[in-house]
Amino acid sequence: MTSTEKTYEGSCHCKKVKLSVTLATPIEEQNIIDCNCSLCSDRGLLIFFATGDRVTVEGEEHLSPYSFNKKVIHYHFCKNCGSSLFGHDEGKTQYGINARSLHGVDLDKLNLVKYDGASA
Ligand SMILES: [Zn+2]
Repeated sequence: MTSTEKTYEGSCHCKKVKLSVTLATPIEEQNIIDCNCSLCSDRGLLIFFATGDRVTVEGEEHLSPYSFNKKVIHYHFCKNCGSSLFGHDEGKTQYGINARSLHGVDLDKLNLVKYDGASA
C-alpha cells in the first residue's frame, strides 16, 4: 500500500454483509456516478468503480443477485435488509460500489457526476 491509499469499510443495513475497498485516491477525489437509469434512481445509488482485487466481501451468502437490462452486470442486494451494496461484471474484475453503503463518508463532499443511464 502506498501512503495515499485508503481503505473504506461498508456494510448493508443489517450488517450481515460487509465490504471493504482500497482506493488509490480518496473517495472525495473520485468521480461518483449519479445515474438516472431505472435501477439507480429506484435505489438511490451513488456508484464508484473499483477493480475486483481491491474489494473484499464478507457474508456473500446473504446476497441475492439481480440482473437487468443486458444482464452484464450482476447487482447484489442483502436478502435480509434489502440494502444495495454493489454490482460486478461476470468475472468480478470490476465492481460498481454504492458509496452510500460505506461508513464514515460525507456524501456532501463527493464529486457527483450525472450519468444518463436511462438513455444509454
Ligand atoms: Zn443486510
